[in-house]
Order: sequence, then C-alpha cells, then structure tokens
Amino acid sequence: MINGFEQLIGESTKSVVLIPHTNPDGDAMGSVLGLWRVLKNAGLKAKVVSPTKYPEFYHWMDGHEEVIIFSHHPKQSARALSEADLVICMDFNQLSRLGDMRSLVEEFQGKKILVDHHPYPSDFADLTISDTTFSSTAELIFSVLQPTRLAQFIDREAATSFFTGIMTDTGSFDFNVSNPNTFEVVAQLTRMGINQLDIHSKVYDNYSADRMRLMGFCLSNRMVVYPEYRAACMYISLEDQKNFNFKTGDNEGFVNMPLSIKGIIFSALFTEKEKYVKASFRSKGDFAVNEVSEKYFNGGGHRNAAGGEYYASLTEALAQFERLLPEFEERLKNSTL
Ligand code: 5GP
Ligand code: MN
Repeated sequence: MINGFEQLIGESTKSVVLIPHTNPDGDAMGSVLGLWRVLKNAGLKAKVVSPTKYPEFYHWMDGHEEVIIFSHHPKQSARALSEADLVICMDFNQLSRLGDMRSLVEEFQGKKILVDHHPYPSDFADLTISDTTFSSTAELIFSVLQPTRLAQFIDREAATSFFTGIMTDTGSFDFNVSNPNTFEVVAQLTRMGINQLDIHSKVYDNYSADRMRLMGFCLSNRMVVYPEYRAACMYISLEDQKNFNFKTGDNEGFVNMPLSIKGIIFSALFTEKEKYVKASFRSKGDFAVNEVSEKYFNGGGHRNAAGGEYYASLTEALAQFERLLPEFEERLKNSTL
C-alpha cells in the first residue's frame, strides 16, 4: 500500500492536483495543504483544487493563496486537472462528496489516489489508502509518508498543516483518540517545531462577535432536548443566518455542544440552506450516527461524526429527526462509552 503510493508519485509524475471534499474542514484542508507543501518541496508541480470555499479561520494556512476554488473558477480548475498526470483525493470516500466537481474528476485521464479514513471507500481510484483506525486523514498521510523518500520534505509548514487536520478532527483531542499512533504522530510533529498554541488560537480564537451571539441565540432558542432518548438537536434557519450575518463556518462546533449536557449522547444540528438542509450528527460511545445519516439524511461519515443533506424544508428535517428517535431508542439507552 505504502510502496504503491511512492511508486505512483514516482519518476513519471510531474504534476499533481490535490482535492479535498466539498465544504472542506480542517482535516481536508490540513491534509491537502500539508501534502501540497511536501510535493512542492520535492520539486513536483502541485496544485490544490477545492470544490467549494472553506472557512476563513483556515485561511492562514500555508498555500491558502494558491488554492483554486472550483465553484468560483471552474475553467481554471479544469485547466489544472488537464495539465496534471495524477490527482490525490483526500478525506472523502465517494465521488458524490465532490458535488458539482464530480464529473471533472470522473473524466480525468491520469492516475488517481484516494487517501481517507472514512468507512466504505468506493472503488474509483487506482490506489486506495483507506484506514478507519486513523483519527484523521492528516495523521494517515503523515504515517504513509514516513517510510518513503518524501518524508525528508516534511518541513515545519507541512507539519503545521498536518497538525491542524489532527487537532480539528479530534476536537482538540476530545474524541477519535483511541489510537496511540495519533499521539506518536503529534510527538513527531512537535519535534518539527510546530507551535501548537498558535495553531489552536488561529483556528479557535478567530470567530466574529456575530458568531458568538448566534451561538448564544441557538443555545437559548434553537435547542431541543429529548432526555428520554439521550438526544438533543439544534437548528439554524436562513432567517437566523441573516440576522447574525452568517458566514461559512460560523456554525462549526455547534453540533458538539449538546453532548456536554449530562446524559446526552446523540446530537444533531440542522442548518437550513437555499435548496436543502445540511444535517450534522455527533455521538458519544458506540451509538453509530453514520447509520442514522445514511438511512434518513442521504449522508454518511464516521460512527461518532456524520453528516448529510436533506432535500426538504427545515420543519420536515426536524420532524424526520423526531420520527426516527423511537427506532433507535433501545440502542440509545444501551449505548456505552
Ligand atoms: P460535519 O458534521 O462536520 O459536516 O461532518 C462530519 C462528518 O460527516 C464528515 O467528516 C464526513 O465524514 C461526514 N459527512 C458530512 N456531510 C456529509 C454528506 O453530505 N455526505 C456524507 N456521505 N458524509 C458526510
Ligand atoms: Mn477527516
């Protein structure tokens, strides 16, 4: 598997395009920007093409200025792919996670690598490096690079991007941290001189006052708790978003908050969009939210963090959530940490 990676990024590869999923999070961006830096350091031509934009609190990352956003620059994105002989897809398990950029990757003539840590990867790449035992794609790619000649090109900037991926996908080491490898990788990144406090501050102390007010509003007025099901949900309407000058990423972390309520192990967040409702799910312990998301919200993800898209009104999404709770009652009651 690992040799295959080195082989594909071998002598014949001159130009690589790195691709995260739609609405990339810290792990998707940390993984592509970290690997982008490593490949550039190794003398390759590398570009990052993201299906959509990503939150401003990741814009400080090395390489951000050069990221091509497909939804804003489709022609430039198509040109980047047409000039590449390899694409590396990171942090997603199926091409539908690329949204409108999907066909561009499907029609790509060169080789494809997938590096991901979600369950059930679909078989679209020439090489699939997929392992759910890793906290994050960033941890996985760092580990994959270690035994290869590319390891020497991991510098402080790349290490900073990889750490950002691990930090955000574990909620600052709050979940997905049962594998000791995560901490071994963090130890190595720390030896490379990353500034953990600075990275944490850039990501988490970078919100607008509007976002903080929206959070307070949602906690007071948009949270419903179902103690009998050990569940809670929150929702944000388009009108709420207008009232609080909502920007991409302003709802980041909201879905985790109800899990701090005593006894609650299953949490959902519904964010109304123009054409659908974005659903986010989190859980503690062995209750699998990816099953809920797959079955009822056209989504998927990990056992404790999943999401989906619901093509109906916000009211209907909330009704759907209430309807499904009885089905999972036994599992919710019996779930252990
Ligand atoms: P979030 O709630 O942060 O948007 O997503 C949590 C996790 O759920 C992501 O890391 C991803 O694995 C998964 N996820 C989110 N949205 C979708 C979606 O629309 N489809 C699928 N298949 N997975 C999603
Ligand atoms: Mn991830």
